[in-house]
Amino acid sequence: MCWERVIGQHHAKDILIAAIRRGCVAHAYCIWGPDGVGKDALAIEFARVLNCSTPVVRDNCIEACDHCKDCLQISMLQHPNVQLIFSLPAASKSGSNDDESPILRLTDDQISQIQEQLLLKARNPYHDISIPHATQIRIAAIRDVRRTLQLSPPVGHGWRVVIISEADAMTLEAANAFLKTLEEPHARTTLILTTSRPDKLPPTVLSRCQRIHCGYLDEESIAMALVQREQVPLERARILAALAQGSYARALKLSLAADEDVLTDTAIHFLRLVLKQGRFRTELLTMIEQQLNVYDRMQVILLLRMILTWFHDAYRLSLHGSSAEPYLVFRHGNLRQALARFVERFSPHSYDTAIAAVESAITAIENNAQIPLTLVTLAIRLRRCMLPQSSL
Ligand SMILES: [Zn+2]
Repeated sequence: MCWERVIGQHHAKDILIAAIRRGCVAHAYCIWGPDGVGKDALAIEFARVLNCSTPVVRDNCIEACDHCKDCLQISMLQHPNVQLIFSLPAASKSGSNDDESPILRLTDDQISQIQEQLLLKARNPYHDISIPHATQIRIAAIRDVRRTLQLSPPVGHGWRVVIISEADAMTLEAANAFLKTLEEPHARTTLILTTSRPDKLPPTVLSRCQRIHCGYLDEESIAMALVQREQVPLERARILAALAQGSYARALKLSLAADEDVLTDTAIHFLRLVLKQGRFRTELLTMIEQQLNVYDRMQVILLLRMILTWFHDAYRLSLHGSSAEPYLVFRHGNLRQALARFVERFSPHSYDTAIAAVESAITAIENNAQIPLTLVTLAIRLRRCMLPQSSL
């Protein structure tokens, strides 16, 4: 496997590898795609390969040796040729002006927060840099880049790589200054914008960049990465991957914050209540009032994703029987037995409609719909498609 530090994204890797091998690295790239799928990780790996002293060439791949000083320095985000630009808080010090380097304008506390975030990003290129009140990339940061490019050529044999992470956070002035930088090509220099919202970038900037798309990651790749990189047990990794919706960064956050055992129990309890014969509303409303009222919107969405994962598993199992086993998320212990009982009880013809109902409840909650009403509506829709008419 090539560029192993980057999960999946084979198409994007192929484009960058071909550019290096053919000696036609573009002056500027825009790596775009959903949050948490590895856009920055890809840009950093590209910088490593471009600067590695002893790159390894085999088959159709060229990759960083992972041992030389350049590789190690870039992994630590401390290489003179590689600059990572991201949103910084507005200046806190009085008397600062726009021409000053953005770092000089920050307080000591802000600087230590930034250093801490950079350290986390260096340890894990999927880390989402988060600094309080940092929402914009301002003109001073881009002027700094421009000055550096004008004053000094890349160090050694390597390439200067400037990565503007979440580039859509550039202010209009910053984007205009960046445009000027794009118009002045520098030798052995590539500028990389990463963004999940390319439509927010000025078309004049976008049109000067080679665009590279990074798509959602598949669940298996996310689960394996959690196991190998974070030592998450496989069983748990599969559940987190199913909840992460194609984003490794989201899976990482869930691995730290989510209690998926409680979520699974709650999801199964919800389905039991909703799909029981006869009256259900009083018990469901009690559950919503007593158990779910402590959930915020994000937790309700996670709960619904857990229910969705359950239906996907039930669908796979009912269609393919035991050959579905390797693809099941709930394939262990009590959950596996509960899944088998569920599939025996309900008709497989109802799963399509049930999945659509859960998906539409998730969309409603994401769009700020009222939570109890959405859950009761979902319950009614699930009962209609899953239970025989006589038991409603
Ligand atoms: Zn190296």
